[in-house]
Amino acid sequence: MPAPRTPIDLRSDTVTRPAPAMRRAMAEAEVGDDQYGEDPSVNALQDRVAALLGKEAALFVPTGTMANQIALKVLTQPGDEVILGAESHVAWHEVGSAAVHSGIQFSVVGQGGLFKAADVAGAFKPRGHIVYPPTTLVVIENTHNRGGGVVFPQADAVAICEQARERGMKTYLDGARLWNAALASGASLHELAAPFDLVGVALSKGLGCPVGSLIAGPAEVIARAHRQRRMFGGAMRQAGIVAAAGLYALDHNLDRLAEDHANARAFAEAVARLPQVDIDLSTVQTNIVIFHLRPGAPDAATVLAEARSRGVLLTPFGPRTLRATTHLDVSAQDCRRAGEIMAELAVAWPH
Ligand SMILES: *Cc1c(COP(=O)(O)O)cnc(C)c1O
Repeated sequence: MPAPRTPIDLRSDTVTRPAPAMRRAMAEAEVGDDQYGEDPSVNALQDRVAALLGKEAALFVPTGTMANQIALKVLTQPGDEVILGAESHVAWHEVGSAAVHSGIQFSVVGQGGLFKAADVAGAFKPRGHIVYPPTTLVVIENTHNRGGGVVFPQADAVAICEQARERGMKTYLDGARLWNAALASGASLHELAAPFDLVGVALSKGLGCPVGSLIAGPAEVIARAHRQRRMFGGAMRQAGIVAAAGLYALDHNLDRLAEDHANARAFAEAVARLPQVDIDLSTVQTNIVIFHLRPGAPDAATVLAEARSRGVLLTPFGPRTLRATTHLDVSAQDCRRAGEIMAELAVAWPH
């Protein structure tokens, strides 16, 4: 068993460092100039992810944000409106870029990142109206980061995409953590991706790669995405060096996500026992734990600093809200210890 890492870094599943075997796969990757379509490792990764998601084609891009931004760009026109769930990554964590790159506005529906087909029907605005912005795209995030890693119920996703299609809207799945959603729900990646026009997935979260995301969809749309990737400055050359990490991760790091889910559950149950904490354990379905400090307890900044002083790193998600995320660089023992440290700290908190 690897020695416990200090600190126990639960800030994000992006903090992982590539393991020696992944680095070896990267060092030995066959590469070529991807701008000429000649990087065999990139081509293999794109083909493999397209097949996993049941789509015609896929495109390798540097980040999940670029995947999302390209998707918004190719599926909308400036002045369009996009329906999405509360606290979506594209609305909260992408520095307002959708307004800059695509000139679109958001219509936020539902709660905790989840919504229903009826919400889409209620928010939809038709094309050609004298005052309305035309609603042309629906975005679903699965799993939902700020919603606590919840899995988007697939029956709702299917009904939403059907509703969207009937009204002439496109659909995009921000599946940065779709791997986690598949594992937690027992549905295949193929099944989760099927209702959507375009799907984004990330390699740099639970899969433990240093870099990389992909978008997948019909060949014609991916061809337009290809042009946008160049426009966004995300077209790379011997990117097989990093694509090889993705291929390695698909072979070795998919099934082990179950450990991350079990570790998140153990940490969540530990903080749920603290009288100063509110947590909805029903949202702890994958590798993310979001919890709230009750009125009277110290605030998020104070608890963050106290936890840091004891070697546990968390992320602030609001004045009284914290997030912990498990990943392949924290063990079951680390997560148990992190829970114990929170309990030791809480002894001194008023409640
Ligand atoms: C992390 C994340 C992204 C993309 O993030 P990058 O840091 O740009 O790779 C997109 N969507 C969701 C839901 C995410 O959690």
